[in-house]
Amino acid sequence: MNCLFCRIIDKKIPSKIVYEDERVFAFEDINPQAPIHILIIPKKHISTTLDITHEDNELIGDLFRAANKIAKDRGVAERGFRLVLNCNPESGQTIYHIHLHLLAGRVMHWPPG
Ligand code: 5GP
Ligand code: ZN
Repeated sequence: MNCLFCRIIDKKIPSKIVYEDERVFAFEDINPQAPIHILIIPKKHISTTLDITHEDNELIGDLFRAANKIAKDRGVAERGFRLVLNCNPESGQTIYHIHLHLLAGRVMHWPPG
């Protein structure tokens, strides 16, 4: 499959790995938008949030549990962090393999850009 994030999971493309287990993979974003900017992705290829099915219920929970663990490990859980998941062009989605952006280490603004 011609998917950049599937190739990163397979380690055919190098990344700065932050977390990995049977179902979840997390790595540093190549173009960080905050002091901490980590992408948390399922190892299963899912193109957009619209493609999530009931079969993925546990997997989606796994993504959030991994995000919480990373936030705690990086010491930002109490200060705060932002999770972003873009879907389709107007949201800014550029890679069609779902990914939670974990952003932290600075004050976040609302509304987002
Ligand atoms: P999206 O815009 O789809 O929500 O987010 C895609 C993210 O993937 C962007 O923040 C972008 O910087 C990141 N990204 C794109 N290509 C690579 C890459 O080759 N390696 C890493 N580590 N991040 C990437
Ligand atoms: Zn993929």
